[in-house]
Amino acid sequence: MHVHTCFSSDSTAPVETQVRKALSLGMKHIAISDHQDYDYPPWHSIYLLSETGDTEGYLSVLREVREKYEGRIEVLIGIELGLQVPLGKRLDRYVAAYPFDFVIGSTHFFNGRDTEDPALYRDCTEEDACRAYFQTELDNLAATDAYDVVGHLDFVLRDLPSKNRYFSYRTYADLLDEILLTVIRKGKGIECNTKTLYRGMGQPSPDTSVLKRYRELGGEIITFGSDAHQPDWIGGAFVEASEILRECGFRYYCIFRDRKPVFLPLAQPRG
Ligand SMILES: [Zn+2]
Ligand SMILES: [Zn+2]
Repeated sequence: MHVHTCFSSDSTAPVETQVRKALSLGMKHIAISDHQDYDYPPWHSIYLLSETGDTEGYLSVLREVREKYEGRIEVLIGIELGLQVPLGKRLDRYVAAYPFDFVIGSTHFFNGRDTEDPALYRDCTEEDACRAYFQTELDNLAATDAYDVVGHLDFVLRDLPSKNRYFSYRTYADLLDEILLTVIRKGKGIECNTKTLYRGMGQPSPDTSVLKRYRELGGEIITFGSDAHQPDWIGGAFVEASEILRECGFRYYCIFRDRKPVFLPLAQPRG
């Protein structure tokens, strides 16, 4: 439910290549979810659809591919929105104007910069950076309804100088609980983003402790996303992630069709 294609500036994969790869892995559904991040400062990379924000062109290609593969694999039309508080109402109008199946709401930006910008981590402790990120994410999630799930909830960890080595749920429990409760109260969900798992950080995003807490608080809506920017990342670490979700108490995962969750049983444990 989280796949990028050449409509995103950080991927060169054609839509059909991604769909064919998912089909070859035996998947029944794939959501394409390219970047639409409005209002980045001019010195940052452009993460708008096709670098112009052209949604119609994106939708027409996805519809074409969906029709071509009908009966073999279901192609769901998604989008990954970059959330920022001042964009809240604009994003609400945006998602209402187009027939998306699925919307990921991601916080890629805090303290005026992209999380990848090393300047963010230069003059503060990692704990301060994390607190600033989670507070921004909480404000973003409260300011709009333009999302079905929260993308990579602890995204900041992958850009910290020491990555997730010192992360502990307890250090940020006040903010993380508030984020999870906001999501649950609004009837939204989170994703289990496996990119950090298959790229060597040893944990999905969010961390297992956060997934577990989400379930404890009553959270049920959860999607799988490999955040694949190239075909060989599709489905990365899904088996491992599925076992992690079971251990956290989940029995179902979701896909989204027409912005509504469809619950599917998690695979039985191996062996
Ligand atoms: Zn993202
Ligand atoms: Zn993404």
